[in-house]
Amino acid sequence: MAHCIVYADRRWQELVVRLKNIEIRWFPKAKDVLSRDGTNNPYDQAQETIRREIRKFRKSAYLAYAHFPMPDRYARRETTLEATARSIGLSLKEAARPYLPVAPEDLAWAEGYLKEHGLEAGKFVLVSPYSWENKRWGKENFSRLIDLLRDRLHLRSVVVSYPEIGPFDNPGVVLAYNLSLGQISGLMQLAGLYIGLDSGPSHMAAFFDLPVIVVFIEKRTFPFEVRPLTPSGLYVVESFFSTRSMPNVETVLGAVTVLLSSKKKFPIPECPMCTKPMQYVLGEANPGALRLMCSCGLSFEHDITSTGRVEKNTSFPERNFLEENDYNFAEQSWTPENLRSVQSRIEKNAPERVNFLLEKPDKKEWGAGDFPPGYLDICPDSIWEWMWRKGYRIERIELSQDRTRLSFSRGKGENRHHRNPARLRIPWGNTLLASTEFQYLRWFSYGTWGTPASLVGIVKGQAELSAWPTEIRGCAWTAFLAQKSMRSLRWLIKGFFWGLKRQK
Ligand SMILES: [Zn+2]
Repeated sequence: MAHCIVYADRRWQELVVRLKNIEIRWFPKAKDVLSRDGTNNPYDQAQETIRREIRKFRKSAYLAYAHFPMPDRYARRETTLEATARSIGLSLKEAARPYLPVAPEDLAWAEGYLKEHGLEAGKFVLVSPYSWENKRWGKENFSRLIDLLRDRLHLRSVVVSYPEIGPFDNPGVVLAYNLSLGQISGLMQLAGLYIGLDSGPSHMAAFFDLPVIVVFIEKRTFPFEVRPLTPSGLYVVESFFSTRSMPNVETVLGAVTVLLSSKKKFPIPECPMCTKPMQYVLGEANPGALRLMCSCGLSFEHDITSTGRVEKNTSFPERNFLEENDYNFAEQSWTPENLRSVQSRIEKNAPERVNFLLEKPDKKEWGAGDFPPGYLDICPDSIWEWMWRKGYRIERIELSQDRTRLSFSRGKGENRHHRNPARLRIPWGNTLLASTEFQYLRWFSYGTWGTPASLVGIVKGQAELSAWPTEIRGCAWTAFLAQKSMRSLRWLIKGFFWGLKRQK
C-alpha cells in the first residue's frame, strides 16, 4: 500500500482537502485572477523541495507526476495532462476526465438556491465569464449571448463570477458572485449547459455529464493542449483560426444549438478519418451551419437548422476520379458518406498506389463558404495518418500554387513496413516543413494548428527528457529550416552536440 503525498495548489484548497487517503503539502502561493502577488510557476518553485523529500527515501519514493514535456504531444494532439500521464506510464485512454469531490451539502445548497431564484434544474445555463485578461471574451459578448439564450432558446442564465466583473442587467439573469468552489460545483450538477473560458471552472464542469462550451481567446497556446476533458464539450476556437480577435456571439450560440438540439447523449459528430469527436468550432461559414473540426484538422459543415436536413446542392458524381485510384478532394465536394465509400474501397481492393489531390492547407483562412452544409474539408494530416494505419507509405508530395498532391504506395512482404527515408517538403500551417515521413508522423503531424515557433519546443522536450538521441538532430534541423531564428539556430547546435554525445 503506497503512502501518497500530494503537492497541491492553494487556489483549490477547498476541494483538495476533501480527497481521502492522501497527505497534502502546499505549493508556494500562486497568482490568481484577482491577486497581484504570488508566483506564475508554483510547480517550478516546489520542485527542489519535492526532490529533497524524495532523496530522503531513496529507492522507496517515486515521483508520479511533474513537468515532463513529452515532445510528441502536439503530433498526438494531447492535453498536457494526458501527455504527462503518458510520460509516467499511466494510460488514460479516451476516458480521461477530471475528478471533482462534490459534497452532498453543495447539492442541497444549490437546490435551495434554484428555488430562491425561481430556476428549474436542467433548464438554466451556468455562465462563467471571468478569467485572465488575455483569455476573456468580453462582458458585452457574454451579455449579448445571455439575451440570445433567453430570447431564442428560453434559457435563463446564472452568472458565476467575481464582483470585479461588474453587474449584468439582462432580464432574467441571476448573479451568483463570490460563491465557494463547492457551491459552484453544486450548481454545475443541476445546470443544463455550461459556457465558460479557458479557466478553472471549465475544468470543473468537465467532470459532470453536462454539455460544456469553452470559448478560447488566447492565440499562443494550442487550445487542444488545455481543453477541459469531456466528451460532451465543444471548444470555440474561431479566433485561433482567424485574424479576428474574438469569436462571434453567433458562433457560440451555434455551438449551443449543436449541443442542445439533438436528443442524443453525445450529439457531436465523429471524425470519419480518426473517429474522434469533432469538438472544435471554427465558426459560421454558411447560414444555418457551423464548421466543426477534429483535432486532426478535418473539418465539416455541420447543419444546425431546425429541420436537421442537409440541402445538398452539389451532387457527387459517382465516378469522376482522374484515374482508378485518384481521389480529388480539391475540386469536388465530399460528404462523410462519400468519404466512407472511398475508405472501404481502399480497404477492400488494397490498390498498390493511391493519390489524393487536396487544397493547399492554410491555417489562418479556413475557406468561408467554400463548402455547403453537410460537406467535408479534408486536410493532408488526416489522410496521411489514416493511410499509414492502413499500411500505406507516402511516396511523393507535389505542390503547386494552391494544390497538394499526396501519392501513397503499399509495400508488399518485407517492404510492408518500409519507411520513406527521403526528406519531403510538406505543406504545414502557412509554411513548408522539411521532414521524413516517420519523423513527420511522430513529431509534426499537427499542421492545422502548427506554428513554426512550436517546433523548437519539440527539440527542447527531447533534450529535457534525454531521449531520442538519433532523432533530435533531424528535428532540430527541421525546426531551423522552418524558421531561421537565433533560437532555432541555438537548438540546432545544441541538438547536434547532444546527439553526438548520446551516440557514443
Ligand atoms: Zn480526425
